Amino acid sequence: KLYNMVQDLKGNIRVYCRIRPAFNAETKNAIEYIGDDGSLVILDPSKLQKDGRKVFQFNRVFGPTATQDEVFKDTQPLVRSVMDGYNVCIFAYGQTGSGKTHTMSGPSGGSTKDMGINYLALEDLFEISSRRKDIINYDIHVQMVEIYNEQVRDLLVEDSSTTKYPFTFSHLPQRNIFKLCARENGLSLPDATMHSVKSTTDVLHLMKLGEVNRVVSSTAINNRSSRSHSVVTVHVHGKDISGNILRSCLHLVDLAGSERVDKSEVTGDRLKEAQYINKSLSCLGDVITALAHKNSHIPYRNSKLTLLLQDSLGGHAKTLMFAHVSPEGDSFGETVSTLKFAQRVS
Ligand code: ADP
Ligand code: MG
Repeated sequence: KLYNMVQDLKGNIRVYCRIRPAFNAETKNAIEYIGDDGSLVILDPSKLQKDGRKVFQFNRVFGPTATQDEVFKDTQPLVRSVMDGYNVCIFAYGQTGSGKTHTMSGPSGGSTKDMGINYLALEDLFEISSRRKDIINYDIHVQMVEIYNEQVRDLLVEDSSTTKYPFTFSHLPQRNIFKLCARENGLSLPDATMHSVKSTTDVLHLMKLGEVNRVVSSTAINNRSSRSHSVVTVHVHGKDISGNILRSCLHLVDLAGSERVDKSEVTGDRLKEAQYINKSLSCLGDVITALAHKNSHIPYRNSKLTLLLQDSLGGHAKTLMFAHVSPEGDSFGETVSTLKFAQRVS
Protein backbone atom coordinates (compact mmCIF):
# COMPACT_ATOMS: atom_id res chain seq x y z
CA LYS A 1 0.00 0.00 0.00
CA LEU A 2 2.73 2.42 0.99
CA TYR A 3 4.56 1.36 -2.12
CA ASN A 4 1.57 2.31 -4.27
CA MET A 5 1.42 5.71 -2.65
CA VAL A 6 5.06 6.30 -3.45
CA GLN A 7 4.34 5.23 -7.00
CA ASP A 8 1.53 7.73 -7.27
CA LEU A 9 3.70 10.56 -6.02
CA LYS A 10 6.21 9.75 -8.69
CA GLY A 11 3.28 10.00 -11.06
CA ASN A 12 4.47 10.19 -14.58
CA ILE A 13 6.94 7.33 -14.56
CA ARG A 14 5.77 3.76 -14.60
CA VAL A 15 7.64 0.52 -14.95
CA TYR A 16 6.18 -2.75 -16.18
CA CYS A 17 8.00 -6.04 -16.18
CA ARG A 18 7.47 -8.61 -18.92
CA ILE A 19 8.71 -12.18 -18.65
CA ARG A 20 8.93 -14.02 -21.94
CA PRO A 21 8.07 -17.71 -22.27
CA ALA A 22 10.89 -20.17 -21.62
CA PHE A 23 12.33 -21.64 -24.82
CA ASN A 24 13.73 -24.71 -23.24
CA ALA A 25 11.50 -26.52 -20.77
CA GLU A 26 14.51 -28.22 -19.24
CA THR A 27 16.36 -25.10 -18.15
CA LYS A 28 15.37 -24.40 -14.62
CA ASN A 29 13.35 -21.24 -14.27
CA ALA A 30 15.11 -18.51 -12.39
CA ILE A 31 12.03 -16.59 -11.41
CA GLU A 32 8.52 -16.85 -10.15
CA TYR A 33 6.06 -14.05 -10.53
CA ILE A 34 2.71 -12.98 -9.22
CA GLY A 35 0.80 -11.19 -11.90
CA ASP A 36 -2.03 -8.70 -11.90
CA ASP A 37 -2.52 -6.82 -8.65
CA GLY A 38 0.35 -8.51 -6.81
CA SER A 39 2.82 -7.49 -9.47
CA LEU A 40 5.91 -9.07 -8.05
CA VAL A 41 8.87 -10.81 -9.52
CA ILE A 42 10.55 -13.22 -7.15
CA LEU A 43 13.97 -14.56 -7.89
CA ASP A 44 14.54 -18.21 -7.15
CA PRO A 45 16.17 -18.28 -3.72
CA SER A 46 18.28 -21.30 -4.59
CA LYS A 47 20.05 -19.19 -7.20
CA LEU A 48 20.82 -16.40 -4.81
CA GLN A 49 23.68 -17.23 -2.52
CA LYS A 50 24.31 -13.81 -1.08
CA ASP A 51 21.06 -11.90 -1.26
CA GLY A 52 18.66 -14.61 -0.19
CA ARG A 53 15.16 -14.41 -1.60
CA LYS A 54 14.77 -11.30 -3.66
CA VAL A 55 11.50 -9.59 -4.47
CA PHE A 56 10.92 -6.86 -7.02
CA GLN A 57 7.70 -4.96 -7.36
CA PHE A 58 6.45 -3.12 -10.43
CA ASN A 59 3.38 -1.24 -11.55
CA ARG A 60 2.49 -4.29 -13.54
CA VAL A 61 4.01 -7.67 -14.30
CA PHE A 62 3.21 -9.64 -17.45
CA GLY A 63 3.99 -13.32 -17.25
CA PRO A 64 4.96 -15.67 -20.09
CA THR A 65 1.35 -16.21 -21.17
CA ALA A 66 0.43 -12.53 -21.47
CA THR A 67 -0.69 -11.68 -24.99
CA GLN A 68 0.23 -8.62 -27.04
CA ASP A 69 -3.32 -7.36 -26.62
CA GLU A 70 -3.16 -7.69 -22.84
CA VAL A 71 0.08 -5.76 -22.77
CA PHE A 72 -1.35 -3.09 -25.03
CA LYS A 73 -4.49 -2.74 -22.94
CA ASP A 74 -2.38 -1.42 -20.06
CA THR A 75 -0.41 0.84 -22.37
CA GLN A 76 -3.39 2.30 -24.20
CA PRO A 77 -4.28 5.09 -21.73
CA LEU A 78 -0.78 6.45 -22.04
CA VAL A 79 -0.88 6.25 -25.82
CA ARG A 80 -4.24 7.99 -25.87
CA SER A 81 -2.98 10.88 -23.77
CA VAL A 82 -0.82 11.83 -26.75
CA MET A 83 -4.02 12.84 -28.54
CA ASP A 84 -4.70 15.24 -25.65
CA GLY A 85 -1.33 16.94 -26.02
CA TYR A 86 0.94 14.94 -23.70
CA ASN A 87 4.38 13.82 -24.78
CA VAL A 88 5.00 10.15 -24.05
CA CYS A 89 8.04 7.87 -24.13
CA ILE A 90 7.76 4.10 -24.08
CA PHE A 91 10.98 2.12 -23.65
CA ALA A 92 11.78 -1.55 -24.03
CA TYR A 93 14.74 -2.48 -21.84
CA GLY A 94 16.42 -5.85 -21.34
CA GLN A 95 19.14 -8.20 -22.47
CA THR A 96 19.23 -9.40 -26.08
CA GLY A 97 16.67 -12.15 -26.58
CA SER A 98 14.43 -11.09 -23.70
CA GLY A 99 11.55 -9.90 -25.91
CA LYS A 100 12.04 -6.15 -26.46
CA THR A 101 11.39 -6.26 -30.19
CA HIS A 102 8.50 -8.66 -29.64
CA THR A 103 6.83 -6.11 -27.35
CA MET A 104 7.47 -3.07 -29.55
CA SER A 105 7.22 -4.46 -33.08
CA GLY A 106 5.95 -8.01 -32.78
CA PRO A 107 7.26 -10.92 -34.79
CA SER A 108 9.00 -9.95 -38.01
CA GLY A 109 7.48 -10.91 -41.36
CA GLY A 110 4.42 -9.79 -43.22
CA SER A 111 1.58 -10.93 -40.99
CA THR A 112 -0.36 -8.53 -38.78
CA LYS A 113 -0.91 -11.19 -36.16
CA ASP A 114 0.65 -10.48 -32.75
CA MET A 115 1.61 -6.95 -33.70
CA GLY A 116 3.40 -5.00 -31.01
CA ILE A 117 2.88 -1.64 -29.38
CA ASN A 118 4.16 0.43 -32.32
CA TYR A 119 1.46 -0.82 -34.63
CA LEU A 120 -1.32 -1.07 -32.04
CA ALA A 121 -0.60 2.46 -30.82
CA LEU A 122 -0.88 3.96 -34.28
CA GLU A 123 -4.01 1.97 -35.00
CA ASP A 124 -5.49 3.41 -31.83
CA LEU A 125 -4.45 6.97 -32.68
CA PHE A 126 -6.13 6.69 -36.07
CA GLU A 127 -9.28 5.44 -34.43
CA ILE A 128 -9.40 8.36 -32.01
CA SER A 129 -8.63 10.76 -34.81
CA SER A 130 -11.60 9.55 -36.82
CA ARG A 131 -13.86 9.49 -33.77
CA ARG A 132 -13.05 13.13 -33.01
CA LYS A 133 -13.03 14.36 -36.61
CA ASP A 134 -15.94 16.76 -36.13
CA ILE A 135 -14.20 18.61 -33.30
CA ILE A 136 -10.52 18.32 -34.07
CA ASN A 137 -8.48 17.70 -37.16
CA TYR A 138 -5.40 15.58 -36.52
CA ASP A 139 -2.30 15.08 -38.65
CA ILE A 140 0.00 12.21 -37.79
CA HIS A 141 3.60 11.92 -38.96
CA VAL A 142 6.23 9.31 -38.23
CA GLN A 143 10.03 9.33 -38.07
CA MET A 144 12.31 6.44 -37.26
CA VAL A 145 15.99 6.61 -36.39
CA GLU A 146 18.66 4.35 -35.04
CA ILE A 147 21.32 5.39 -32.54
CA TYR A 148 24.48 3.36 -32.82
CA ASN A 149 27.73 4.30 -31.10
CA GLU A 150 26.22 7.69 -30.25
CA GLN A 151 25.50 8.44 -33.89
CA VAL A 152 22.03 8.87 -35.29
CA ARG A 153 20.80 7.49 -38.60
CA ASP A 154 17.51 7.87 -40.42
CA LEU A 155 15.83 4.49 -40.97
CA LEU A 156 13.05 5.76 -43.23
CA VAL A 157 14.93 6.66 -46.36
CA GLU A 158 13.94 4.66 -49.44
CA ASP A 159 17.44 3.67 -50.40
CA SER A 160 19.61 3.51 -47.33
CA SER A 161 22.67 2.53 -49.36
CA THR A 162 22.88 6.11 -50.63
CA THR A 163 22.79 7.50 -47.11
CA LYS A 164 26.22 8.07 -45.80
CA TYR A 165 26.59 6.31 -42.48
CA PRO A 166 26.89 7.60 -39.84
CA PHE A 167 24.29 10.24 -40.35
CA THR A 168 24.86 12.88 -37.71
CA PHE A 169 22.26 15.36 -36.61
CA SER A 170 23.96 18.69 -36.84
CA HIS A 171 21.50 20.21 -34.38
CA LEU A 172 21.80 17.66 -31.65
CA PRO A 173 24.94 18.65 -29.80
CA GLN A 174 23.72 22.17 -29.22
CA ARG A 175 20.70 22.11 -27.10
CA ASN A 176 19.50 25.62 -27.84
CA ILE A 177 19.55 25.29 -31.58
CA PHE A 178 17.89 21.94 -31.28
CA LYS A 179 15.20 23.34 -29.02
CA LEU A 180 14.59 26.22 -31.38
CA CYS A 181 14.08 23.83 -34.25
CA ALA A 182 11.76 21.78 -32.14
CA ARG A 183 9.59 24.80 -31.43
CA GLU A 184 9.50 26.26 -34.90
CA ASN A 185 8.77 23.15 -36.86
CA GLY A 186 7.21 20.95 -34.27
CA LEU A 187 9.96 18.46 -34.98
CA SER A 188 12.25 16.93 -32.51
CA LEU A 189 14.40 15.26 -35.16
CA PRO A 190 15.05 18.09 -37.57
CA ASP A 191 17.18 16.10 -40.01
CA ALA A 192 15.24 12.86 -40.26
CA THR A 193 12.57 12.37 -42.89
CA MET A 194 8.97 12.91 -41.80
CA HIS A 195 6.31 10.64 -43.20
CA SER A 196 2.65 11.45 -43.14
CA VAL A 197 0.58 8.43 -42.12
CA LYS A 198 -3.15 8.13 -42.66
CA SER A 199 -3.77 4.45 -42.15
CA THR A 200 -2.31 1.28 -40.70
CA THR A 201 -1.29 0.34 -44.24
CA ASP A 202 1.02 3.39 -44.31
CA VAL A 203 2.39 2.36 -40.94
CA LEU A 204 3.09 -1.20 -42.07
CA HIS A 205 4.90 0.11 -45.12
CA LEU A 206 7.14 2.32 -43.00
CA MET A 207 7.79 -0.37 -40.41
CA LYS A 208 8.88 -2.67 -43.19
CA LEU A 209 11.18 -0.02 -44.62
CA GLY A 210 12.70 0.65 -41.21
CA GLU A 211 13.19 -3.05 -40.61
CA VAL A 212 14.87 -3.55 -43.99
CA ASN A 213 17.18 -0.58 -43.47
CA ARG A 214 18.15 -1.86 -40.06
CA VAL A 215 18.92 -5.31 -41.40
CA VAL A 216 20.85 -3.98 -44.42
CA SER A 217 23.32 -2.23 -42.19
CA SER A 218 23.57 -5.09 -39.74
CA THR A 219 25.06 -7.48 -42.32
CA ALA A 220 28.22 -5.37 -42.35
CA ILE A 221 28.72 -5.69 -38.64
CA ASN A 222 26.95 -8.81 -37.54
CA ASN A 223 23.64 -8.43 -35.71
CA ARG A 224 24.03 -4.79 -35.03
CA SER A 225 20.34 -4.29 -34.35
CA SER A 226 20.78 -5.64 -30.82
CA ARG A 227 23.49 -3.07 -30.24
CA SER A 228 21.63 0.01 -31.37
CA HIS A 229 18.61 1.87 -30.06
CA SER A 230 15.73 2.28 -32.46
CA VAL A 231 13.40 5.21 -31.94
CA VAL A 232 10.04 5.53 -33.67
CA THR A 233 8.63 9.01 -33.15
CA VAL A 234 4.97 9.70 -33.80
CA HIS A 235 4.17 13.39 -34.16
CA VAL A 236 0.60 14.43 -33.53
CA HIS A 237 -0.64 17.79 -34.69
CA GLY A 238 -4.22 18.74 -33.96
CA LYS A 239 -6.32 21.79 -34.75
CA ASP A 240 -9.71 22.23 -33.18
CA ILE A 241 -12.71 24.16 -34.53
CA SER A 242 -11.68 27.37 -32.74
CA GLY A 243 -8.24 27.13 -34.34
CA ASN A 244 -6.37 25.99 -31.22
CA ILE A 245 -3.28 23.99 -32.01
CA LEU A 246 -2.21 20.89 -30.13
CA ARG A 247 1.19 19.33 -30.68
CA SER A 248 2.70 16.30 -29.05
CA CYS A 249 4.77 13.25 -29.68
CA LEU A 250 5.03 9.63 -28.78
CA HIS A 251 8.48 8.02 -28.78
CA LEU A 252 8.62 4.25 -29.04
CA VAL A 253 12.08 3.06 -28.16
CA ASP A 254 13.52 -0.42 -28.64
CA LEU A 255 16.75 -0.13 -26.65
CA ALA A 256 20.07 -1.84 -27.33
CA GLY A 257 20.62 -5.08 -25.40
CA SER A 258 21.56 -4.34 -21.81
CA GLU A 259 23.84 -7.36 -21.34
CA ARG A 260 27.25 -6.72 -19.88
CA VAL A 261 30.08 -7.90 -22.02
CA ASP A 262 33.12 -9.45 -20.50
CA LYS A 263 35.87 -6.91 -20.99
CA SER A 264 38.49 -9.61 -20.98
CA GLU A 265 36.86 -11.27 -23.98
CA VAL A 266 36.08 -8.41 -26.30
CA THR A 267 38.37 -5.87 -27.86
CA GLY A 268 38.32 -3.16 -30.50
CA ASP A 269 34.98 -2.27 -32.09
CA ARG A 270 32.98 -4.69 -30.00
CA LEU A 271 34.35 -3.21 -26.81
CA LYS A 272 33.70 0.32 -28.06
CA GLU A 273 30.09 -0.61 -28.89
CA ALA A 274 29.63 -2.13 -25.46
CA GLN A 275 30.95 0.98 -23.79
CA TYR A 276 28.61 3.21 -25.80
CA ILE A 277 25.64 1.04 -24.89
CA ASN A 278 26.58 0.96 -21.22
CA LYS A 279 26.99 4.68 -21.17
CA SER A 280 23.74 5.51 -22.93
CA LEU A 281 21.67 3.06 -20.89
CA SER A 282 23.12 4.31 -17.64
CA CYS A 283 22.50 7.91 -18.78
CA LEU A 284 18.90 6.99 -19.46
CA GLY A 285 18.68 5.46 -15.99
CA ASP A 286 20.21 8.61 -14.48
CA VAL A 287 17.73 10.88 -16.27
CA ILE A 288 14.68 8.86 -15.26
CA THR A 289 15.92 8.51 -11.69
CA ALA A 290 16.61 12.24 -11.48
CA LEU A 291 13.09 12.93 -12.78
CA ALA A 292 11.55 10.48 -10.31
CA HIS A 293 13.36 12.24 -7.47
CA LYS A 294 12.42 15.64 -8.88
CA ASN A 295 16.05 16.72 -8.92
CA SER A 296 16.74 20.21 -10.15
CA HIS A 297 19.42 19.05 -12.55
CA ILE A 298 18.42 16.44 -15.13
CA PRO A 299 21.49 15.16 -17.02
CA TYR A 300 19.93 15.03 -20.51
CA ARG A 301 23.12 16.06 -22.22
CA ASN A 302 25.14 12.98 -21.35
CA SER A 303 23.85 10.84 -24.23
CA LYS A 304 22.32 11.29 -27.67
CA LEU A 305 19.28 9.28 -26.69
CA THR A 306 18.33 11.47 -23.72
CA LEU A 307 19.18 14.60 -25.68
CA LEU A 308 16.89 13.47 -28.46
CA LEU A 309 14.05 12.71 -26.05
CA GLN A 310 14.52 15.55 -23.62
CA ASP A 311 11.33 17.38 -24.55
CA SER A 312 9.41 14.19 -23.89
CA LEU A 313 11.06 13.20 -20.63
CA GLY A 314 10.06 15.16 -17.55
CA GLY A 315 7.69 18.09 -17.17
CA HIS A 316 4.20 16.92 -18.00
CA ALA A 317 5.51 14.13 -20.19
CA LYS A 318 4.77 10.52 -19.33
CA THR A 319 7.22 7.66 -19.33
CA LEU A 320 6.69 3.93 -19.41
CA MET A 321 9.50 1.44 -19.25
CA PHE A 322 9.12 -2.25 -19.97
CA ALA A 323 11.78 -4.28 -18.19
CA HIS A 324 12.12 -7.51 -20.15
CA VAL A 325 13.49 -10.64 -18.58
CA SER A 326 14.13 -14.17 -19.74
CA PRO A 327 13.00 -16.85 -17.32
CA GLU A 328 15.89 -19.23 -17.88
CA GLY A 329 18.40 -19.96 -15.19
CA ASP A 330 21.35 -19.20 -17.43
CA SER A 331 20.09 -15.63 -17.83
CA PHE A 332 19.98 -15.18 -14.10
CA GLY A 333 22.77 -12.63 -13.80
CA GLU A 334 21.29 -10.41 -16.51
CA THR A 335 17.82 -10.81 -15.07
CA VAL A 336 19.04 -9.52 -11.72
CA SER A 337 20.68 -6.50 -13.30
CA THR A 338 17.62 -5.70 -15.46
CA LEU A 339 15.35 -5.88 -12.42
CA LYS A 340 17.74 -3.70 -10.41
CA PHE A 341 17.89 -1.14 -13.19
CA ALA A 342 14.10 -1.11 -13.45
CA GLN A 343 13.70 -0.80 -9.70
CA ARG A 344 16.10 2.11 -9.64
CA VAL A 345 14.05 4.11 -12.15
CA SER A 346 10.66 3.26 -10.69
P1 ADP B 1 15.10 -8.80 -28.10
O1 ADP B 1 14.52 -7.79 -29.04
O2 ADP B 1 15.03 -8.37 -26.67
O3 ADP B 1 16.49 -9.21 -28.47
P2 ADP B 1 13.14 -10.55 -29.25
O4 ADP B 1 11.92 -9.73 -29.15
O5 ADP B 1 13.79 -10.64 -30.59
O6 ADP B 1 14.23 -10.12 -28.16
O7 ADP B 1 12.78 -12.00 -28.68
C1 ADP B 1 13.62 -13.11 -28.83
C2 ADP B 1 12.79 -14.30 -29.32
O8 ADP B 1 11.80 -14.62 -28.38
C3 ADP B 1 12.07 -14.00 -30.61
O9 ADP B 1 12.06 -15.15 -31.39
C4 ADP B 1 10.68 -13.65 -30.15
O10 ADP B 1 9.71 -13.91 -31.15
C5 ADP B 1 10.50 -14.52 -28.94
N1 ADP B 1 9.64 -13.88 -27.92
C6 ADP B 1 9.98 -12.86 -27.14
N2 ADP B 1 8.98 -12.52 -26.30
C7 ADP B 1 7.98 -13.36 -26.57
C8 ADP B 1 6.64 -13.51 -26.05
N3 ADP B 1 6.18 -12.74 -25.06
N4 ADP B 1 5.90 -14.51 -26.57
C9 ADP B 1 6.36 -15.29 -27.54
N5 ADP B 1 7.59 -15.19 -28.09
C10 ADP B 1 8.40 -14.24 -27.62
MG1 MG C 1 15.49 -6.81 -30.64
